[in-house]
Amino acid sequence: MNLTLADILAAQNTIAGIAADTPLVPSPFMSARCGQEFLLKLEIAQPIGAFKLRGAVNAIANLAEDVAGVTCCSTGNHGRGVAFAAAQRGMRAVVCMSSMVPKAKVDGIRALGAEVHIAGTSQDDAQSESLRLCETDGLAEISPFDDPFVIAGQGTIGLELLAARPDLEAILVPLSGGGLAGGIALAAKTIRPDIRVIGISMDRGAAMHESIRAGHPVEVTEVESLADSLGGGIGMDNRLSFSLCRDYLDGTVLVSEEEIYTAMQTLYYEDRIVAEGGSVVGLAAMLAGKLPSFSGPVATVVTGRNLDMSVFSWVVNGEDVTLGNTVVRGKTYGA
Ligand SMILES: *Cc1c(COP(=O)(O)O)cnc(C)c1O
Repeated sequence: MNLTLADILAAQNTIAGIAADTPLVPSPFMSARCGQEFLLKLEIAQPIGAFKLRGAVNAIANLAEDVAGVTCCSTGNHGRGVAFAAAQRGMRAVVCMSSMVPKAKVDGIRALGAEVHIAGTSQDDAQSESLRLCETDGLAEISPFDDPFVIAGQGTIGLELLAARPDLEAILVPLSGGGLAGGIALAAKTIRPDIRVIGISMDRGAAMHESIRAGHPVEVTEVESLADSLGGGIGMDNRLSFSLCRDYLDGTVLVSEEEIYTAMQTLYYEDRIVAEGGSVVGLAAMLAGKLPSFSGPVATVVTGRNLDMSVFSWVVNGEDVTLGNTVVRGKTYGA
């Protein structure tokens, strides 16, 4: 399987009119902090509130006419994308999730008409349930990050970024299974080989970061995080996203829960934007001084806004957030 720019261009055609060509807006505050223009690619403006619609629509459009329906495992947003795209084709959708997935995400998926199966406590457990349904119910499995059509769909963000701003020096991409970062990097680097694409994960359970360091997919322990969308492994039998990220990313950077907390506050207070922990890691890395210095415009993908609003209100009010066994200490913004 060799994915190319042509697949991403084809995806762009397929998803047009269903997934949005989202706004790219400057952040004056972040630009001042960065010393360069800092731009936000607002995937929160997708109809499902997250970029995963792109890959889901492309994958479902490319299924055979006669499939009985689709199944997937998801930390939330992929399930939402699959549910939306399947409903558009009048197809049955089952979304398998672990008990770690926040209730807001489970409710959102049910509201789109999909069936939800809660299975176990990890993405791997959810994955097993999804594979079981392929056998018993004849459903087609759509991987959240290791499917060529999903990766090509996510890669359309790279096309939009370079069409809007051919002068970008770097793209900062939230990184979990690597479908997003792999797709964007493939698109952007094929068009502009000198552009830098950097993947950013939370420091607790950063599966792709650890796998690239090890030279092969490795298992990580999944823990609760403000960046719940970035949880889960990359699959020990990873076919596509691992090699794409290994070959195309210029680096991976990790951020702490405290840094994610501050970035959520910053985006809210400075830009008036509500976004998930997993979608602000690019800002978090920049604010924490963990990135190289840039001499041209930088964009980050604000990947989703489907967060639990009680958690969000604790963060913006500077209160503690309890995540399993750890507590992220509250901090008043600007104090
Ligand atoms: C899925 C997701 C990511 C990471 O995408 P991968 O393709 O798994 O790397 C980032 N942010 C949000 C909000 C997501 O839902």
